[in-house]
Amino acid sequence: MRLSLLTLILFCCIRLVSAQTPSSQPLTAVKCGRLLDVRSGKILTNAVVLVQDGRIQKVGANLAIPADAQVLDLGNALVLPGLIDAHTHLLQNYDGKIGGDDVNMLLTVTQLGNTRRALLGAAMGREDIEAGITTVRDLGNSGLNGDVALRDAITQGWVVGPRIVASTRALAAAGGQFGQVTAEAQQLVAQEYVTISGVEEARRAVRQALYDGADCIKVIVNTGPRVVSLEEIKVIVEEAHRVGKTVAAHAIGDQATSIAVEAGVNSIEHAYSIPDDVLKLMAKKNIFLVPTDYPAEFYVSVSPAPPGASAEMYLSGAQEFAEANHKRLARAVKAGVRIAAGSDEYYQVPGKTRGQASLMMFRAYAASGMSPLEIIRAATLNAAELLGAKSWLGALEPNFYADLIAVEGDPLTDITALEHVSFVMKEGKVIKNETNTKR
Ligand SMILES: [Zn+2]
Repeated sequence: MRLSLLTLILFCCIRLVSAQTPSSQPLTAVKCGRLLDVRSGKILTNAVVLVQDGRIQKVGANLAIPADAQVLDLGNALVLPGLIDAHTHLLQNYDGKIGGDDVNMLLTVTQLGNTRRALLGAAMGREDIEAGITTVRDLGNSGLNGDVALRDAITQGWVVGPRIVASTRALAAAGGQFGQVTAEAQQLVAQEYVTISGVEEARRAVRQALYDGADCIKVIVNTGPRVVSLEEIKVIVEEAHRVGKTVAAHAIGDQATSIAVEAGVNSIEHAYSIPDDVLKLMAKKNIFLVPTDYPAEFYVSVSPAPPGASAEMYLSGAQEFAEANHKRLARAVKAGVRIAAGSDEYYQVPGKTRGQASLMMFRAYAASGMSPLEIIRAATLNAAELLGAKSWLGALEPNFYADLIAVEGDPLTDITALEHVSFVMKEGKVIKNETNTKR
């Protein structure tokens, strides 16, 4: 009792001190020849963003620059908010040459282990932020809380990377997403997933995730014939929402998407197939779709054609899958479902960094008929809202985090311009500056 009173007093003092701490970082004025207001869709010319202590203080066209400000001139590059990837797996990096998910998951768990995976995550995070992704929602497959360790290391400045919203281990039915393994090897499942059966186990798993440091909860609704029940997901949502955390549901097909939406999760991940009535209900309940889609060229570059399949057959299979996804995304948009961008990238893509490969998802979104502005909003405003951060992330407005990126091209006419980010600032710190202008 006495201890908790003391804690409370200390907490009040800390808050008082931090409120009175004077500004520590100098004021920076970022001159932007062009700046995209993602909310209105308008481009401001000769814009200035005033940044102090990691936040945007003021933004507008032809703002007066205070005499004591450090000036950063980005020339005629187009400046927009840092991108948000709402579905990442920074602590895994599969090699498609040695096989698919099943074999790679076993190798990752048995040969990398938690410590090396955290270091891998640091490398992947660096590649993400250098590509312009300044915030991610990392959804499991991080070993035992490696995502939390990486998140905290980035927050403390030990390593450079995107801001991370972490889920810890995903909740799933028996076996998680492992392929068939022997009874003796099944203890490995707990490295990646918390398996649940029954509502009390579901409740316990959410509370454990919160204790482990989760910012959100990930649930694998279905893997083959193993499906989490409606009652179990309802309890997961209830436990998470009670403490202001969101729930991301991996769900594919009629049954899994339907029960996840009925239970009231915050986002449906993948949904490579999903019926129209479920899409309608998603729109009504403001449940986001995170379409982890790619163009066919992504799939064929990740792994070689399987034995017996010609390159043409392999490509046409990939095209068929990509086109089916474009159609379902178009149906979702037409039904009024809001889209948050999420890459689900976890394979090595030759010639590309993790961040560059992730941004290939935008090509798939464009092929579904989404306009460039809609795609940019999916990766800024919408993703920020899904992350519960719409008041400080996803736009260049006063009090928002000073997460800025710049591109030389025009993403409003060609979305692939976002694959070539020349400038990245996160919370007022310049991470990368390759703009061909004076510094
Ligand atoms: Zn995923």
